[in-house]
Amino acid sequence: MRPLSPGSVIGILGGGQLGRMLALSAAQLGYRCHIFDPDIHAPAADVAASHICADYGDRDALVRFADSVDVVTYEFENVPVAAVEHLVSRGTCIRPGAQALKVAQDRVAEKDFVTALGGTCGRYRAVDSLEALQAALHVVGTPAVLKTRRMGYDGKGQARIYKPDEAAAAWAAISGQPAIVEAFVPFQCEVSVLIVRSATGELRSYGPIENEHVAGILSRSQFPAALPDFVTAQAISLAGTIAAKLDYVGVLAVELFIVDGQPWLNEIAPRVHNSGHGTIEGSVTSQFENHLRAVCGLPLGSTSPVGHTEMRNLIGADVDQWSQLLSDDTAHVHLYGKSDVRAGRKMGHVTRVTPFGPLR
Ligand code: AMP
Repeated sequence: MRPLSPGSVIGILGGGQLGRMLALSAAQLGYRCHIFDPDIHAPAADVAASHICADYGDRDALVRFADSVDVVTYEFENVPVAAVEHLVSRGTCIRPGAQALKVAQDRVAEKDFVTALGGTCGRYRAVDSLEALQAALHVVGTPAVLKTRRMGYDGKGQARIYKPDEAAAAWAAISGQPAIVEAFVPFQCEVSVLIVRSATGELRSYGPIENEHVAGILSRSQFPAALPDFVTAQAISLAGTIAAKLDYVGVLAVELFIVDGQPWLNEIAPRVHNSGHGTIEGSVTSQFENHLRAVCGLPLGSTSPVGHTEMRNLIGADVDQWSQLLSDDTAHVHLYGKSDVRAGRKMGHVTRVTPFGPLR
């Protein structure tokens, strides 16, 4: 595909806040966005040129969508692979492609893929029955975390197992779905590396970004992370290897645990990522712009940080602080336009950047 000139149309599968921030960034570069999302209130639709509100299984609607755009990307990793493959078979350019979705949608496939590339992760086993879980706990040990293989996010579809006799309760808690059981990793900290790969294979990275989760949901991110250079180099190298092996185009998030100074894989997300929201104000080029640059076949922008950056999510009722936050001169406030405030729902975020001092 030739580089897309301004005025072209980018199709985004998924219309959440990630799609909203992609569409805002696309507008800055002179592109228009069409959103495909089954939710009539999709946050991205408010800031996009058009919204096809249909189910991902609706082939006619998908084809109409694909025919109305110059390139398709996605902001939601649970877009059905069959839908993407159908569009690819019709000649639609989809970046990143179906392979990244296939790997990232299955927690077992994702860990198998990354360990085959030389990455490290904690002990894990695939389990599809209570008996298999009980047997796997002999290998994995306790404490452990049981997670559905598919469709889990923000700590949903997970159950902790502190002692082997809790296996049945955990299995019931995830409704007996195909699962992965992982040893609980005693990490020093959690980080993410957001790697962006262009259509010509150029790689640039943000991070590592240090992340804090509360109840399985990202609460706070900051960068640059206080990590030794060799750990940073290892984390970025692993992310680059994964992106290259997937022939990936766009931003890929690699979530890592730091254990004894080594990066261990937690999971990958084939999309722009919550931990990178601070790059809007905290980096020369944001993750959203760089994703679009890659998808449109343009040169990548600098990922250099401009200062110490902290991003806090506004989750559920946190969003009620919006007017106080607006009177804080240091706060960049982002609200996602979601009218329905629910516990655990990401409603917005706030970023503060402390510029680096002059070089001495
Ligand atoms: P996930 O959805 O798998 O990223 O899990 C959400 C959060 O739960 C992670 O960011 C960690 O804080 C925690 N977590 C998940 N799996 C593990 C694990 N195997 N060991 C320790 N903490 C975990």
